[in-house]
Amino acid sequence: MGLRGREMVGQGVEHILDLLNKAYASEWLAYYQYWLGAKLIKGPMKNAVAAELALHATEELAHANLLAGRIIQLGGTPVLTPEEWAKESPCAYDAPNDPYVVALLDQNIKGERCAISFYKGLMDATKEADPVTYNLALGILAQEVEHEEDLQSLREDLTLMVERGGR
Ligand code: FE
Ligand code: FE
Ligand code: MG
Repeated sequence: MGLRGREMVGQGVEHILDLLNKAYASEWLAYYQYWLGAKLIKGPMKNAVAAELALHATEELAHANLLAGRIIQLGGTPVLTPEEWAKESPCAYDAPNDPYVVALLDQNIKGERCAISFYKGLMDATKEADPVTYNLALGILAQEVEHEEDLQSLREDLTLMVERGGR
């Protein structure tokens, strides 16, 4: 922890640490959901979709890494056990029960939408007092927006293929 860096944030630092830990827990769940989905996936275009899911998994893990760094900078502790991930996360873990490509895309689109809302809220909460966390949240948010669009466009391609296949 850096003293002046923590003081800069002021009275709200514990609340910001709480939000950072929620995001951190959520990123681990997102990582695992993508990582496992990429392995289980079945159906049309599965190789293209699996490659995107696997890439997103690595990007979610990178988000967890950035968040852990910021939590420690502010004098906090990243949640210590996987048992806490589901309890802390603002976004639900959706087990890839159904390996069908469209089902996996829909689950992960839902997760990205939740992440986008959460990071927008984190930006709103840090705008005045914590420009460092604000900037971090902005960078992650931009990538979550990209993730949503990547998955939606794959979803659209699949729909087109099914509707217009062979014509
Ligand atoms: Fe993420
Ligand atoms: Fe994402
Ligand atoms: Mg992508």
